[in-house]
Amino acid sequence: MFETVIGLEVHVQLNTKTKLFCACPTSFAHHQNSNTCPTCLALPGALPVVNKEAAIKAMRLGYAINGIVNHSSNFDRKSYFYPDSPSAYQITQLHKAIVQKGEVFIDLKDGTTKRIGMTQAHLEADAGKNIHDGDVSKVDLNRAGTPLLEIVSDPDMRSADEAVAYLKKLHSTVRYLDISNANMQEGSFRCDVNVSIRPKGQKEFGTRVEIKNINSFKFVADAIAYEVQRQTEAYEDGVYESEVYQETRLWNVEKGETKSMRGKEEAADYRYFPDPDLRPLVVTDEMIEEAKNMPELPDAKVKRYIEELGLKKYDALVLCATKELAYYFENMLKSGASAKNSVSWLNNELLGRLNKSEFNITNSPVSASKLGELVSKIDNGEINGKGAKDILDVLMSEDSDIDTLIDKMGLKQVNDDGAILAIIDEILANNPDKVEQYKGGKDKLFGFFVGQTMKASKGSANPQKVNELLKEKLG
Ligand code: ADP
Ligand code: MG
Ligand code: ZN
Repeated sequence: MFETVIGLEVHVQLNTKTKLFCACPTSFAHHQNSNTCPTCLALPGALPVVNKEAAIKAMRLGYAINGIVNHSSNFDRKSYFYPDSPSAYQITQLHKAIVQKGEVFIDLKDGTTKRIGMTQAHLEADAGKNIHDGDVSKVDLNRAGTPLLEIVSDPDMRSADEAVAYLKKLHSTVRYLDISNANMQEGSFRCDVNVSIRPKGQKEFGTRVEIKNINSFKFVADAIAYEVQRQTEAYEDGVYESEVYQETRLWNVEKGETKSMRGKEEAADYRYFPDPDLRPLVVTDEMIEEAKNMPELPDAKVKRYIEELGLKKYDALVLCATKELAYYFENMLKSGASAKNSVSWLNNELLGRLNKSEFNITNSPVSASKLGELVSKIDNGEINGKGAKDILDVLMSEDSDIDTLIDKMGLKQVNDDGAILAIIDEILANNPDKVEQYKGGKDKLFGFFVGQTMKASKGSANPQKVNELLKEKLG
């Protein structure tokens, strides 16, 4: 039996206005090579100046994961040549990163929580892009010098599920912190997966393989499954030493396999040395204050939803998984809806309808305050669930006033005992045989009477009242 060991390196593109060491804008929408200057083109003599906004955003992550935020950190040069990096080195932080240590908690499918230790998070400059076009290759340096935060975990994960849970948690956290758009398709949240196996009970780690730049949660899970199987087979076939060695592999989506890309370089191969152009990054009290100013994070939110709003843990986790859903829910509460009904109307009714449409929670045709208003009318008995569903169906395609819809569609719930009793009396009078059978012990018929009463009221009778009054009447 083998145990899987996984450690993840995530590159998060920080959403700063300008690049890490120059004043060029970080947006890529412009014409190729137009967002460049002597510094990010690495022209001789141009000097880097570190971006304060990038430092604050890195620090914010540091505080969010309970890490050590170093008040002084250093930049190093990692030497390598590639056409998209005109300086022939990358500025990164090897020896003393801005954030060290820390922890992320993940919720597992069996309901337990697991702590994943963090190694560090460091600032580094992204490279440009090589664009291959037939037999011509072009270089676009608009991205060169864009700030990345590389977030490195300890090798604490033991399955693909844990790795995906960790990634989702980190993704959600950087989105809550608003330090990155974290768009996986666009590459602003990229992940390198390190995987090894070892016989259960063995203390030493096995040889790790790094799978680079995976851009979806599903591909991460697939790549791990493939790699675990490849390494396990090599072990069982007695060729582990020769087949599994420290290397960089790529995930081939079409073939569903990892492929060797290059042997893994050791740190020494990169000739790291302190960047002589950059002094230590020293943070000020003002930067610390700004970095600590952050919204409520998912762990605290889940706890509050459970303890103060009385939600089930599962529901709280679903709602807090993305800030968009959590903020939608909180806006429903602000318009007076109860927490309990808001959960089901958001998670089941609205999300169900959104999934079937071209919309999602960020551009929902029904606003949070509108759905909150609808739910508060269920809360106070003005309409029943069936009526509210009909109204929500209408709201999905037109933004109408809810009171007007209730009138127009005749959905005002009848709560008045007298009115409901009048209907019940009529139903019982019209079905004397069924009443006899019920009294003779055919309990199942109760549902028939409820159904007939609801139908006669065109769905407007308060179902709970109907039940109570029928029970009284039939004895
Ligand atoms: P490099 O920069 O060479 O990729 P790092 O030390 O920055 O190396 O990153 C190593 C990553 O690999 C970390 O996320 C770490 O948790 C993980 N890792 C280290 N050893 C193992 C191992 N034996 N199995 C799986 N993951 C590992
Ligand atoms: Mg690395
Ligand atoms: Zn520039």
